[in-house]
Amino acid sequence: MTADEHGQRRAQMVEAARILERSGVMSHTGHINFSTRVDGRRMMLTSSGLIAELRAETLAVVDFDGNVEEGRLNASTAEIVGMHAAVYRQRGDVAAVLHTHSPHVTAFALANHPLPCRYEALLRRGQSGAVPVVPWAPRGSEEFFAGIAATLAAAGETNAVLLGNHGLLAFGSSAIAAAKLVMTLEEAAEAELAAVAIGGAKDIRPAG
Ligand SMILES: [Zn+2]
Repeated sequence: MTADEHGQRRAQMVEAARILERSGVMSHTGHINFSTRVDGRRMMLTSSGLIAELRAETLAVVDFDGNVEEGRLNASTAEIVGMHAAVYRQRGDVAAVLHTHSPHVTAFALANHPLPCRYEALLRRGQSGAVPVVPWAPRGSEEFFAGIAATLAAAGETNAVLLGNHGLLAFGSSAIAAAKLVMTLEEAAEAELAAVAIGGAKDIRPAG
């Protein structure tokens, strides 16, 4: 990867984070970890878990086994390299992986309830089925990483998973695409919960 490509990648990740901040989809703490694929064995990853600290110069390059090649990771972030690597290993089409505790999506994660695809905007974002739940396991454990891989293998084409009792993972073809998906997931979850008060959301009518 050239220095120019590196710079563009960093700038895109920072821009995606600013989009998330502006849209109000972050949890109160601003917790985030965010990566983009460099190649078949490496990613660029946020070094800390706070969106306020996400700047071009705080992004690190690590391989899928957690070896740091550029920059440095704090201890808490080093624990979740495997969470991102599980998605890249399972899904060759994914270029960016984004983790947040966006509040309404996290409500579904706490309930261990898949997020249905009943919101037109979610469908248009490329998510055609329910967002599945990865059963809870301790953060950073092999069981946690294996659960993500197993859920993705079973789910087929989903572009996101809920992490049971925890938060969400959204992925896409670019940093910006992943950020936009987080916003649409949060809108979908908020609308699903609001619709409960008036009888609940209805399934989208099958075409034809
Ligand atoms: Zn988290």
